[in-house]
Amino acid sequence: MNELELLRQGGVVGGGGAGFPLWKKLASPAETLLINGAECEPVLQSDQYLMLKYPDLLVRAAGRLARIVGAREAVICLKDHYVPQIRALQDALCAARGARSAGELGEDAPIKGAPNEGARIDRARFKGYLYEDAPIRGALNVGAPINGAPIKVVLTKDALNVGAPIEGILTEDAPIKGFLNKGAPINGAPVQDAPAEDAPINGYAQGDAESGGICPPVRLHLLPTVYPIGDEQALVHSATGKTVPPGALPGSVGCCVVSVSTALNGLRALQGKPVLSRFVTIAGEVKHPGVYCAPIGTPVSLLLQAAGGVKISEYRLQLGGPMMGRIAGENEEIVLTKTMGGVLVLPKEHRLVKHADLPLDQVRNRAKSVCIQCRTCTDLCPRHLLGHPIYPHLTMRAFALGNRLEPSAALCMECGICELYACPMGLNPRRVQQLHKSMLREQGQKSTFALKDAPALAEHRAVPSGRVAARAGVSGYLFDTPHQAIQVQTPLVCIPLKQHIGAPSQATVAVGDWVQRGDTIGRMAEGALGCDVHASICGRVERVEQGMVVIRAGE
Ligand code: SF4
Ligand code: SF4
Repeated sequence: MNELELLRQGGVVGGGGAGFPLWKKLASPAETLLINGAECEPVLQSDQYLMLKYPDLLVRAAGRLARIVGAREAVICLKDHYVPQIRALQDALCAARGARSAGELGEDAPIKGAPNEGARIDRARFKGYLYEDAPIRGALNVGAPINGAPIKVVLTKDALNVGAPIEGILTEDAPIKGFLNKGAPINGAPVQDAPAEDAPINGYAQGDAESGGICPPVRLHLLPTVYPIGDEQALVHSATGKTVPPGALPGSVGCCVVSVSTALNGLRALQGKPVLSRFVTIAGEVKHPGVYCAPIGTPVSLLLQAAGGVKISEYRLQLGGPMMGRIAGENEEIVLTKTMGGVLVLPKEHRLVKHADLPLDQVRNRAKSVCIQCRTCTDLCPRHLLGHPIYPHLTMRAFALGNRLEPSAALCMECGICELYACPMGLNPRRVQQLHKSMLREQGQKSTFALKDAPALAEHRAVPSGRVAARAGVSGYLFDTPHQAIQVQTPLVCIPLKQHIGAPSQATVAVGDWVQRGDTIGRMAEGALGCDVHASICGRVERVEQGMVVIRAGE
């Protein structure tokens, strides 16, 4: 079976949000493969955890995927203040170079102390982030040296100690409110200690690193700590100096961008192991914010219990990051999917909730009466700063007047800078951009756009990540990358047959069937855009309806 077919059958889709099937992305040749380790959204920690925990696998994944697209090199891009991750990846690159004689990496793989251009690490930039003896809050590897420099451990009240009992998280017989639990409580699903490295319940194992064949060189590229540098187009610009034309994809400039979790899942799938679980950040108003790893289809209500429960009575869930995620409906029942990087528990009166809930007629009234056409939303728009002709202030004007659709709204990637950071009047230019964008799509209105020169002050207008977190009102929810993710087991999963762009896969199981973990339960028609879907636990199929397969665990 060829490699693209392995990726399709393995169900690998982009883990960063859209769920674009990896096999389709890698089907087009590219000169450069970029691994997106920016993890731009404030609060989210899942990719940072993966880079820290599995650097060697990530280096191998980068090389393997780069070979598939025919790239000359693979570049792992991460922010310049992710110091522990940078060190871990440098060490992995060193080790990989040592393995080069076995034909695993190319000639130019950088080694520590002699990085390639773009991988230079200036220690002065790390002032205030991490020095040898700086305490790492929440770090738990007591006695474990990193590069020979022992880390002093300061356990804060939030630290989750590996092996320590996690009290009050999931008790036997605790019913799980919500999803699929109509009168049928899901009984105790204990949180387990992290498994041994080579025998994970969920996640990645060293055995996933099988390679075979010569891979292109892999190097690091350090990104500035600004938002949204993880946007594909901003990432391509930072890592290669090329600008993706407006309305085009990175492939138009010879680049292919893959997220960290997608790359690791891809490496597993190349070994015939499908995507069955994912790492997800659970944060906000929960007792134990952290990175959790659970089977695909796990009810989010169970994940919240695993995180110690919600601390407040009136709350809403933000699915994904605080900037680009969406606020779930009040009674929406949610399960963990391949594309869900985070769940943030927010008070009902939080700014993000209020922005999302504002009725459209009020959005319009505010645009009419309050928008001063200062164009700050345009001047700080990250796509505008790349030279794309996008003008949210014009969309606001058109929306207020109600006389036309603004074509440039089609170029919006919905990062939220205009709405949550730029607008001095607290208006909703992103909501309006989204609206015009979807109406343009519905009406089949397509425009072509020419790339312009980047604005003169573009490089000074990038927005520091910390300021974004503060403006979004989530600074209080930030936490350090945990040393260990918490494994969660579930007695029931509800697995959507569509977790990707394209058509849903077709169920291949029926009520009453017994399935093993990893069995295919949904299959894509050959050549169609999409991926196969798999059972994430062993058990009996309880329901197949509304695009979902419900499996109850059993021996
Ligand atoms: S920043 Fe706000 S007030 Fe200024 S033009 Fe944009 S939407 Fe209007
Ligand atoms: S959400 Fe606003 S800032 Fe972001 S790309 Fe769209 S218009 Fe630009």
